[in-house]
Amino acid sequence: MLEELGLTPLWHRRTLQHVTDSAMEAIHQADVTNNRHARVMQMDWTQLKVSVADCAACPLHQTRTHSVFGAGDENADWLWVGESPGVEEDANGAPFVGQVGKLLDNMLAAISLKRDSNVYITNIVKCHPPANHNPENAEALQCHPYLARQIELIQPRLIIALGNFASQSFLNTDATVASLRGKLHQFSGIPLIVTYHPSYLLQTQADKTKAWEDLCFAKATMQRLLQ
Ligand code: SF4
Repeated sequence: MLEELGLTPLWHRRTLQHVTDSAMEAIHQADVTNNRHARVMQMDWTQLKVSVADCAACPLHQTRTHSVFGAGDENADWLWVGESPGVEEDANGAPFVGQVGKLLDNMLAAISLKRDSNVYITNIVKCHPPANHNPENAEALQCHPYLARQIELIQPRLIIALGNFASQSFLNTDATVASLRGKLHQFSGIPLIVTYHPSYLLQTQADKTKAWEDLCFAKATMQRLLQ
């Protein structure tokens, strides 16, 4: 009956075409993503910085003023990683500036560290998300090759993940900083410690004591790693 109505071929053709187009698009996207990741993983520092400055791989490039690559000692033992640039970082193109930057400097000084001296600082996502929202998973995924290459080039002995988003991204979990802190984790074979983001600590003074404990734990861990 459907044949007589002229519907059967139309049904089959449209369904198959739809499936084929979706599958091809998925394969194409996976190809593009894999090729881009492979390209980024071959870059040296200069190429990586140019690539991040010019990047348009996710929608955040449309609203940023500057991408924020990261800064510090490119052979550092310590790698500190936050979530994404804030408004001031977006305006300056530098990580952790303003009040948040001052508190980060104080956290570093508390364990005898200084940015630029055996410390590298960056973010999971290199462009500022509008209205300070958390980066979307797709944005973090597109940005991931840059951080992966930074880690490969720096080869830090210890990573400090600052705040929920950075910790959850590294450890692929929904758990909060409160439940992840105080333990030694691993990311790609590199020891990783979780603590609060300085922007959170500016709002929640009560947790500064816990952050201090985390810093002492990090310092003791580094001393063990250097033995
Ligand atoms: Fe590119 Fe990362 Fe900026 Fe997105 S957030 S545009 S992936 S540099």
